[in-house]
Amino acid sequence: MSAPTFPSGSVLGYPRIGPRRELKKAVESFWAGRTTADELEATASALRVAVAKRLVDLGLDASSGAVPGSFSYYDQVLDVVALLGAVPSRFASLTDAKGALDLAGYFTVARGAGEDAPLEMTKWFDTNYHYLVPEISESTPFRFADDRVVRQFVEAKDAGVVTRPVVVGPVTFLALSKAADDSAPGFSPLSRLADVLPVYVELLRALAAAGAPWVQLDEPALVSDSIDVPAAEVHAAVTEAYRVLATELAVGSERPAILVGAPFGGLQGEHDGLALLAATDVEAISLDLVKGVVPAVPVPGLADKTVVAGVIDGHNVWRADLAAKLALVEGLSGLGAGAVTVGTSTSLLHVPHDVEDEDWTNGSIDARLRDWLAFADQKVGEVAILARALTEGRDAVADQIEASRAAVASRAVASGVVVPAVRERAAALTEGDFSRGDYAERAAAQQAKLNLPLLPTTTIGSFPQTPEIRRARALNVKGELSDTDYTTAMQDEIRRVVELQEQIGLDVLVHGEPERNDMVQYFAENLDGFAVTANGWVQSYGSRCVRPPILWGDVTRPAPITVDWSTFTASLTEKPVKGMLTGPVTILAWSFVRDDQPLGDTANQVGLALRDEIADLEAAGIGIIQVDEPALRELLPLRKADQAAYLDWSVSSFRLATAGVVAETQIHTHLCYSEFGEVIGAIDGLDADVTSVEAARSRMEIVPELAEAGYARGIGPGVYDIHSPRVPSTEEVTDLLELAVKSIDSRLVWVNPDCGLKTRRYEETVASLENLVSATNAVRAQL
Ligand code: GLN
Ligand code: ZN
Repeated sequence: MSAPTFPSGSVLGYPRIGPRRELKKAVESFWAGRTTADELEATASALRVAVAKRLVDLGLDASSGAVPGSFSYYDQVLDVVALLGAVPSRFASLTDAKGALDLAGYFTVARGAGEDAPLEMTKWFDTNYHYLVPEISESTPFRFADDRVVRQFVEAKDAGVVTRPVVVGPVTFLALSKAADDSAPGFSPLSRLADVLPVYVELLRALAAAGAPWVQLDEPALVSDSIDVPAAEVHAAVTEAYRVLATELAVGSERPAILVGAPFGGLQGEHDGLALLAATDVEAISLDLVKGVVPAVPVPGLADKTVVAGVIDGHNVWRADLAAKLALVEGLSGLGAGAVTVGTSTSLLHVPHDVEDEDWTNGSIDARLRDWLAFADQKVGEVAILARALTEGRDAVADQIEASRAAVASRAVASGVVVPAVRERAAALTEGDFSRGDYAERAAAQQAKLNLPLLPTTTIGSFPQTPEIRRARALNVKGELSDTDYTTAMQDEIRRVVELQEQIGLDVLVHGEPERNDMVQYFAENLDGFAVTANGWVQSYGSRCVRPPILWGDVTRPAPITVDWSTFTASLTEKPVKGMLTGPVTILAWSFVRDDQPLGDTANQVGLALRDEIADLEAAGIGIIQVDEPALRELLPLRKADQAAYLDWSVSSFRLATAGVVAETQIHTHLCYSEFGEVIGAIDGLDADVTSVEAARSRMEIVPELAEAGYARGIGPGVYDIHSPRVPSTEEVTDLLELAVKSIDSRLVWVNPDCGLKTRRYEETVASLENLVSATNAVRAQL
């Protein structure tokens, strides 16, 4: 049997949460016990069928596997755990005789139960999506435990749409797994490849029997230098995996044709991933042509394969200039591929559903953006147009191509996109604007002014966001609570938070951030150049969704943002109050950012706006200002070759934001969510006077690492994990603090929790902070 033809237009995946977050609501109501598993299955099935039909309406072919079957109840990596029956031993009782999890069991592995911790969660490549990390040991059982993928294929086929099931590939699955606690030291999950492949073989056979023409196996491990497995091992595993899956099985009768997806970057790293895949017997390879480039030289082995040109950006929200994208597709002709078709760079999971879900008439979002944006549905439309251009010729879609050009052109010249004053200011920057004076002088001036004790105690900024705070904000947004009353409510909250901190005996106080809905959205709402959506939800993990702001124009600060809150707070206490801002890199990392200029230029614009805010805070008498950069590590490029340039612009934008202050103003920063190994140098480069970092779970590991790297400014390693309600004992905190003062000059050490307290309740917050202060007193007495 010969391989089927790959459809001329397709997308690598589609949002599964539902345009009105139907899946989120259905799943959460199942968790709450309000609905049964059957009811959840029925809702999800209706959603899947509606999505498949919608994608056909938007222009994907209904009969050839153009529509991706990329549904998941929670996470696509967890789905492979379920497929393989590879649940950690603590959850073994949840599986049946065949190793299968029912829906309740599946969610338990994702969310934990009692003492049994869920699978760990971590970032999916360079997106803000988080997957569950499988735990694999020498003895993890693998068998074809779950045929959900097959059943979902049949379900769509019965509804009239022949989909292309999408599954995380075996190499990426194992490369992202961690060695289970009970495995031997040095055990590598990838060493179990030979045991996993037979299950994939069974899955492919079952899909072929069900009539699936294509299956998509995603192998983004091929584009990253940042996973734990060396590239050479990933490459050897890919060769072996696709020998077993593609070469040893007959296409058509024993397996569907295989598309290997390689999203999130170029395949050309230290090793040539494209040549590697071309040498296998898979039928199609999808390239990310937004992040990656492809040299137009013939690649041996491609002549009998389809190359899917991922030219439509699956990871950002801008409408494409279709003529330019078509040129990119045509540029692939030199590769010598058997066929070239059109697709997205990544799954559309990372963008919202539909631009038309916004209310473009009520003034809540700049109406001009309607024409400039493309969410998932618009992107499917773009793919369909490009596919027609390829099959029927450009003239068939000349109008649409022209419309896309006009939209991009109108965006380029629209007011607010380029603000001359912002450009002039950025162009006039000099070295000096990025650096402060000598640290020793700064430290002396700051100590003279602040007169802080040894081991100063503080918090990271937020205090618990109580139901009352959320209710007040919701009422204010609805117009049912006046701005004045809202402000009064927040001021009352700040007063309580200040009194509490004084009672507990903390040295540097915060206002608690009650007025912030989110540390990025709050600034996006108060800066010009940003838009926020009403329905632009994107899955972050499981049932959790976020609405990233859209940074579309040159960034300016129409008015001071935090100054009134901070000065109000300072008026309530004799103790120093720390002002609190979100840094440029984090604002970019958690927004959709304009794609018409380098990220570094945009970061500097945000940096300048923050610089003005910091100047105003300083002028208002706020002597300590913290600029949070929890996402500094997050935007680090997957390819080593790109990392230095990133660290350069990201660190510069922070320095631009903070370097305008006088010596005696103390700048803090805060970092979390990561292993810091690759960014230790960058942390030093930020030149903050004090850096607080997540450290409790790794037992202060970061402190000696920083000290060894020559870091010699203030350091606040987190002394307890705020992600759990558990109250750390005084002894525990004392222990960690002693570790810290042993590995770095104790005069540099600050004492604080790992991160902000907004997700905690007051009960545990107060008890934990009291123990933090007692522990500090105990260690001070030893110094
Ligand atoms: N200042 C913020 C807070 O305390 C920092 C949050 C973060 O690091 N993610 O909530
Ligand atoms: Zn944090």
